[in-house]
Amino acid sequence: MTSRAIPPASSSPALALIIIVSGPGGVGKGTIVDALLRRDQTLLLSRSWTTRSQRPGEKDEAYVFTTREKFESHLAEGGFLEWTEFLGNYYGSPAPDLTTGRDIVLEIEVDGAQQVKVSHPESVLIFILPPSREEQRRRLVGRGDPDHKIQERLRKAEEEEPVGLALADYYLVNDELERTVDEMMALITRLRHDVGR
Ligand code: 5GP
Repeated sequence: MTSRAIPPASSSPALALIIIVSGPGGVGKGTIVDALLRRDQTLLLSRSWTTRSQRPGEKDEAYVFTTREKFESHLAEGGFLEWTEFLGNYYGSPAPDLTTGRDIVLEIEVDGAQQVKVSHPESVLIFILPPSREEQRRRLVGRGDPDHKIQERLRKAEEEEPVGLALADYYLVNDELERTVDEMMALITRLRHDVGR
């Protein structure tokens, strides 16, 4: 007689955490997320699609750079977890595979964050604030955006912040990168503990 071991239910992997990192442009989300992924290489960063043109010096893998037509057809096929139009361009997160056991990080703006909170209420939204508007402006300038784009993004930030704060499970002020990343790592460790990992 042969026998097959059936793993106890408790050994099945818990579903991945969905960690949403949101906040206004120039707050340092990208830098924070890069540092987070270097610290914890089990985290999986969702690679968004965008119809925005690639900035000079921006890495090819920063986004899937695409056309409006291709974006719309992927949308019609139900290929996005969330999407939005932000300052004239489409941005969207592809529907993630939640069964890999790896926690997923989404770096997205507020409208998309809200959609994910509705479709996946168990997701965790961490909202990042700049230490000041002046520092945020300095960071946007450093990124090489033209002046009118910077003004537009600062105006947009004024709209996004109250909405993001109302939705957020946690918020952090990014005044010092290493400290912000330490706080995020501690938070993720606690969340994993809470779901039994
Ligand atoms: P940027 O053009 O500066 O790369 O991004 C503009 C804004 O869109 C940022 O707040 C960024 O976090 C957000 N963003 C990037 N990818 C996505 C996405 O897939 N969905 C949504 N909703 N926002 C995104």
